[in-house]
Formats: sequence, C-alpha cells, structure tokens
Amino acid sequence: MAQPVRASQSTDQISALLERTPRPGHVPVITTRRAVRNWARNEACVPSGFARPETTGQVVSLVDDARRAGPDGRIKVIGAGHSFTPIAMTNGTLLDLGSMDKVLDVDRGAGRVTVQAGIRLRELNDRLAALGLALPNLGDINVQSLAGAISTATHGTGVHLGNIGTAVVAMEMVTGTGEVIRCSETERPDLLRAARAGLGALGIITEVTLQCVASFNLHAHETIEPLDDVLADFEGFAASADHAELYWMPGSRRCQVKRNSVTDEPRRPQGRLGYVRDKWLGENLGFGAICRVGRRFPSLAPKVARLVMSAAAEREFIDRSDKVFSSPRHVRFVEMEYGVPIADLAAALGEVRELTGRLAFPPLFPIEVRVSAGDDAMLSTGYGRTSAWIAVHQYRGAPHEAYFHAVEEVMDRYGGRPHWGKMHYQTEATLAPRYPEWEAFAAVRAEMDPDGIFSNQYLDRVLGPIHSS
Ligand SMILES: Cc1cc2nc3c(=O)[nH]c(=O)nc-3n(C[C@H](O)[C@H](O)[C@H](O)COP(=O)(O)OP(=O)(O)OC[C@H]3O[C@@H](n4cnc5c(N)ncnc54)[C@H](O)[C@@H]3O)c2cc1C
Repeated sequence: MAQPVRASQSTDQISALLERTPRPGHVPVITTRRAVRNWARNEACVPSGFARPETTGQVVSLVDDARRAGPDGRIKVIGAGHSFTPIAMTNGTLLDLGSMDKVLDVDRGAGRVTVQAGIRLRELNDRLAALGLALPNLGDINVQSLAGAISTATHGTGVHLGNIGTAVVAMEMVTGTGEVIRCSETERPDLLRAARAGLGALGIITEVTLQCVASFNLHAHETIEPLDDVLADFEGFAASADHAELYWMPGSRRCQVKRNSVTDEPRRPQGRLGYVRDKWLGENLGFGAICRVGRRFPSLAPKVARLVMSAAAEREFIDRSDKVFSSPRHVRFVEMEYGVPIADLAAALGEVRELTGRLAFPPLFPIEVRVSAGDDAMLSTGYGRTSAWIAVHQYRGAPHEAYFHAVEEVMDRYGGRPHWGKMHYQTEATLAPRYPEWEAFAAVRAEMDPDGIFSNQYLDRVLGPIHSS
C-alpha cells in the first residue's frame, strides 16, 4: 500500500546508492528511511533496509537475517519497479538483484539458457541474440527484470503464444526458511507450475532456465482501420498475424492495428529519422504534450483523441524480433489490464466503449487490445484459456478511479482476470473463484513460505493469509 513519504527515490537511485557501498565478504544491509517508488509513482514504501546480493548464498544469508528479526521480519525483491500495483513494496528488507545478471549455462542443441534471475530483459535479449537465440514473445517494453516479469505473468501478444513464464523450464529459488530449491518439468513440476506466475509469494528466484527459439526477424505492418471492422471478426483478426494488437482511442472510430509476423527476409529497420519521429516525438514527447493539455482542459479531450489517432502513421519495416516488440515509454501513466476469454472480447470491449462516453473525465490514453494462448501455471492470468487483453490507461495525475472501477465492473461480468502487476480492486474472495488451481497454489505457498516473510499488504489482499497445515 502507498505510504505517505517525504523523500523518495526510484529503483535506479537505490542501485546507485548500493553501488557506492563497499562490499565486504557479507552483504551489507543499508538502513536509511528513504522511500522507494514504482515507475508510475503511484506506489511507494519505506523499507527498513536495502541489500544487493550477488550470489544465491548471499540471498540465503539475507533471508536468514530477516527470519531472525522475528514475526515482523519481511524481505522482498524489487525488479525494475514497473508494476503499477504495490506487489513489490515492503517495509522490511528490500533486495535489488541487479548484480545477479550473468548467463550461467548454454545448451545450444536444446536452445536452453540458464541465467541469474536479476537480469533485465534488454540485456537478456542482447545476450540471447549473440547466441543466435531469442524469446518467442515479449511485452512492449524491455526494461523489466526477468524474475519480475515472470512473477506477474507479463505477456505480449500472439494467439498461439503464452506469457513469458511459459518459456521457463527450470528455476532455482530460496524459500522462506532459507533453503535452496530447484524445480523443473521433471523435478517438482507442481512447484514450477506455481512459480511460473508466483507473484513473489513463493521464494526469491535466483536462477532461471529458459527454452528459447532460434533468433528471428519480424515483419511489422501498422495500419489505421475502422474499429468496427476489426471487432466484427476479432478472432480472425487475432489469427491474421503471429502477433496482432490494436490501440483504440476512446472517442475515435478508427484504431491503430499492429500485425507483426515472423519472416525470413533480412532486416529493413525504420530509418533513424522515422524512429525518432514516431517513437520519440510521436509516442513520447508529442504525446506527453497532448496529454498535458487534455489533463488541464478535459473538454478538449475529444479533440485530443482525434489528434492522437491522426498522429498514428501507417508503417512497415523488418527488424530483430525484440527490437520490434519493445518501444521506449517516457510518458508516465497508470494502467489496469484484464484478460477475458477471447470469444468475449467484442462484447466486453463494446461495453467499455459505451462507458467511456459517459465518464466525467475522459481517458487521455488509448486502450490496448492483445491476445495470448492459454497455459497451465496455477495463477497465470492466461490459465486454461486463450485470452484477449483489454488494457486501460490514464495519464499520470488525471482522474482514473471512476474509469477503472467502471471497467472492472464490466470485466467481472466476463470472468476477467486482472494482470498481477497492474491496478485492480480485487481481493482473495473475488479472485479465488476465477482460478481452478487456487488451493493448489495456496498449498505450495504455505510450504515455501510458512511464516509469510515474503508477504506484504498487496499479497495479503489478493492471496489472503497463509494456510499452514
Ligand atoms: C511502461 C510499462 C509497460 C509495460 N508493458 C507490459 C506489457 O507489455 N505486458 C505485460 O504483461 N506487462 C507490462 N507491464 C507490467 C510489467 O511487465 C510487470 O509489472 C513486471 O512485473 C515488471 O517487472 P519488474 O522487474 O519491474 O518487477 P517489479 O514490479 O519490481 O516486481 C514485480 C514482482 O516480482 C517480484 N520479484 C522480482 N524479482 C524477484 C525475484 N528474483 N524473486 C522473486 N520475486 C521477484 C517482486 O517482489 C514483485 O512481487 C508494463 C509496465 C510498465 C510500467
């Protein structure tokens, strides 16, 4: 939960503080009463201490220290702090695994790579590319830590592709009792299915083995199309490319459609000028300026909507997959994202479309629609069904509560499951019926963290207390 804070710092500033601290044999825990905030700056906490371990052994000793602190001893890892929920917040010890970013093992024949869990996705993508490998799918930014992205079931788009956790074939974790445990498809497969979307509730992930694919290029084709045409056959649209998605600005009849498909053709990237115009000026600087106007003068918002859509250009290029998947995001916003069964997308989005017209303060950001394949991770938002994702955003500082509550009511009617790292108002009572293996996850959690040292207020709300047997 957000706490009132006077001084605050981003995760990068914490990293800088830890860098300046001499590291003797043991891992120093720095105690300051400084606050930490997430990327969106809508959540903050004041940890009792910070530490930056470099090895699994050091993580074990930090967990042991937290346990010795007694019933109030808590410990959590923060990745890049890119969750919009307080999932990574704690008033116990906060770990930064930024130094645990090494590639540990490569099985070229099997396409499997084992890395330390603190590696950032951008770094991982570059290391994999140098090995001729890639992840099959990614979200739209690349700055998250690998373990953070796995823990919240971060996803991209692609009707035949699951979230990032589906590429995980083995993990090493430190439990709440300080044990080092490995799980894989053959060793504790139940634990692997829980940890592929573990919410940071099961243990500290220290190593991850990923099933990669051969590196590939994507042919990106972006067009502007009438929203009604796309929704008339949404499943056909979702299948029209390996990675299909759309952005729709409430108030507009048209949407920006992105179709990215695997190609054998060589790279033909966007020119430097075009990239700066579209990604920096269009999607960041110019868009930020438009949002500021809309926040100050809400009555201009419909015009803002038209301007945003008219600024979206048609374009086509070919580039290395991870370069196509991710874009820089410098305009800060808050976000809620729900997964619904793909067959319900058109109806659910139709209701959202209708409610946006009634809001006292209009949305200044487009709605993003993506798709993903089902999987079997116990608390994966994509568990057991092909999902369509509806993501609603609001410019930072503009009113979002009425909008997000109204959208959530719609999602509830369609059995929607909220992204664990994005804003929502659900609790254990409302979430449990949406996950067939809820109890199985609770049992794994009780075994891995019997004393709740990885808990925080968010986990207490969404998972409830730990049920010790
Ligand atoms: C601009 C922006 C764009 C985004 N785009 C997408 C997108 O395209 N698709 C999507 O699905 N999501 C997206 N997200 C959400 C984001 O991917 C998730 O919130 C993700 O969890 C953030 O990773 P992180 O490293 O910042 O983790 P944090 O937010 O720092 O932490 C998330 C959770 O992981 C836990 N954790 C971190 N490291 C470990 C570890 N080593 N062991 C155990 N637990 C750990 C934390 O304790 C916490 O519980 C976006 C967010 C932003 C701000």
